[in-house]
Amino acid sequence: MMESCRAREVLGWRVKSGVGIWEPETLVLPASVVCAFSSRQGGVSGGPYTSLNLGLHVGDRPEDVVTNRRRFSEALGIDLESWVAGSQVHGKDVAVVGRKDRGRGALSQDTALPALDGLVTNEPGVWLTSYYADCVPLLFWDVHGRAVGVAHAGWRGTLAQVGLQVVVKMAEAFGSDPGEIHVLVGPAIGSCCYSVGEELADAFEKEFGREPLIRRQGRTYLDLKLANREYLVRGGIPPDQIYLSTLCTSCLPGVFFSHRRDKSPTGRMAAVIGLRER
Ligand SMILES: [Zn+2]
Repeated sequence: MMESCRAREVLGWRVKSGVGIWEPETLVLPASVVCAFSSRQGGVSGGPYTSLNLGLHVGDRPEDVVTNRRRFSEALGIDLESWVAGSQVHGKDVAVVGRKDRGRGALSQDTALPALDGLVTNEPGVWLTSYYADCVPLLFWDVHGRAVGVAHAGWRGTLAQVGLQVVVKMAEAFGSDPGEIHVLVGPAIGSCCYSVGEELADAFEKEFGREPLIRRQGRTYLDLKLANREYLVRGGIPPDQIYLSTLCTSCLPGVFFSHRRDKSPTGRMAAVIGLRER
């Protein structure tokens, strides 16, 4: 049960330039890869968006979000003008992006690439981003540090296998071997907090059996991280190359936004990955 809670936490907490960041700590990344997750700490947004809201699509003041994004970028040593974002729709579509797409969705939601929940690139200096508050952020890199990807998987995207679509796209577009892809599954709502209705529980049970479902005090809880992991293993990623964060966004109100806990409106964290320019 609840394997994600037994897993070793692979993300380290750092505060850089006043901005809270979760970065791989115990993982050896290829030297070319930069990846991180934001927290809600260290930004300028107020009210329900306090304070490092990085989502432009949730009703916050755009100028505050851009200031927050700039702070996060500077703390990571990357360039905000080279962020790329898709407009997320809880689907499974994945696009290959490159230098020509730099800046799409970075400063305005209007320029985001339409209807995408996954992005991949093999071009340096292109920062793939996704936004979430409970949904599962997935970051992918190949062991040679030549290609990276990101996916956003709530329950719909998980069942649609958006994570697997990123692996397929990396193989098709860049020749990445699934056996050489590593995946970091970031902070997301955990099975401690994510109670689901019977219909959704049944849909997951049909796919995975009882493993990602936990019954407690008459309610059913879903482990979305574990379900995503299972799909990736079925797709050929070695289990020991999938790293699950143990952190639950709903359990840590001072650290993370949580859609389930805070309701709407609330802010969004970002997951970012890319290849350094040499
Ligand atoms: Zn929790």
